[in-house]
Amino acid sequence: MKRLVLVGGGHSHVAVLKSHGEAPMPDTRLTLVSAKRHAPYSGMLPGLIAGHYDYHQCHIDLVRLAGYARAGFLEVEAVALDPKERLLFLAGGERVEYDILSIDIGSTPPTFGIPGVPEHVIPAKPIETLLPAWEGLRARAAGLKRVALVGGGAAGVELVLAMQYRLRRDGAVPGFDLITDTPFVLPSHDVKARRMLQRILDERGVRVHAGRRVAAVEPGRVALEDGASIDVDAVFWVTGATPAAWLRSSGLQTDAAGFIAVNPCLQSESHADIFAAGDCAGVTGQPRPKSGVFAVRQGAPLSGNLRRALAGQALDPYVSPPHALALISAGGKYAVATRNAWALQGAWVWRWKDWIDRRFVAKYQRLYQN
Ligand SMILES: Cc1cc2nc3c(=O)[nH]c(=O)nc-3n(C[C@H](O)[C@H](O)[C@H](O)COP(=O)(O)OP(=O)(O)OC[C@H]3O[C@@H](n4cnc5c(N)ncnc54)[C@H](O)[C@@H]3O)c2cc1C
Repeated sequence: MKRLVLVGGGHSHVAVLKSHGEAPMPDTRLTLVSAKRHAPYSGMLPGLIAGHYDYHQCHIDLVRLAGYARAGFLEVEAVALDPKERLLFLAGGERVEYDILSIDIGSTPPTFGIPGVPEHVIPAKPIETLLPAWEGLRARAAGLKRVALVGGGAAGVELVLAMQYRLRRDGAVPGFDLITDTPFVLPSHDVKARRMLQRILDERGVRVHAGRRVAAVEPGRVALEDGASIDVDAVFWVTGATPAAWLRSSGLQTDAAGFIAVNPCLQSESHADIFAAGDCAGVTGQPRPKSGVFAVRQGAPLSGNLRRALAGQALDPYVSPPHALALISAGGKYAVATRNAWALQGAWVWRWKDWIDRRFVAKYQRLYQN
């Protein structure tokens, strides 16, 4: 039996589990190592914050999905890797041997070495720490005056609008500040989408501080590099993606940003028995945004190549399309759709996004709910 070990129950690995459940890889013992039992689906996270969904509607139960796939499940964080000895080290001291390893552990927002950030902000990821912190904030909503979010990408914009929407429904009306060091929000999106969402932020009274960089965070205060400061009750940190520190010290080849360097077959550039997908991987020659859409797309090619690697067959390269449709929700049941140079908005866009997102999660949930 060959030992295939999956680390992280991210958007690509759920597809590997599904595929193995449908048609088991021959002579393979599959094990999933995941820090948490429930895998959140990123597309529905703003809707969970806004109150459109409950927890279980936007999470895949990895214990039950692994059961469907007849895979072992270890609910524990991986903390180190020795690729020479083919050993994965787990929190708590255990180690797992593998023949083929696949890594899909996502990313967390970078802190840029800014003083006070590790101690005083609530990072948007991991989502398992964001959700309790958010519920803690809701519990003291009546006393809130201002809430700041740092990061002007799609996740920051969606989160600020979702939080404001939910707190208003809870009867609280704190002010919101969205701080970004880019000249405008949504810098990687087309100008039409940017304008639509900027208008929504303006209409909802969100104060956008574009082109301004955070210098330090203290309890109750965000200091900006231009000398200004904002008094706040909470700071959410939504600044993009940085890889887990243990990947850098693993001996795997990484890209300039520290993500696992993989070839178009999603195979490590330095270790043929290691694969990676999703945010934690950087495909050589295919720079892509760190977004759930790309992690989802890599699921099927990763699955196929793990199968081929186990069977000793030639791998199949995969080129993900450079652009993806982005559906950006705006707090209530309203959203903006954008791809390349076009953008559309409306309640119907939200219903479309809702249909796509529910369908994605249901594809996995129905495997173990019957
Ligand atoms: C607020 C917010 C909203 C977003 N909205 C969208 C959106 O609408 N659309 C979109 O495409 N993208 C969105 N994103 C981006 C999206 O979340 C990520 O790009 C996506 O989750 C990456 O998927 P992944 O498979 O790489 O990892 P993840 O989905 O992060 O999954 C990684 C998994 O690995 C586990 N794990 C982590 N470390 C370890 C470890 N050491 N050992 C074992 N297990 C581990 C985690 O528990 C987690 O379940 C959003 C991000 C944020 C913060």
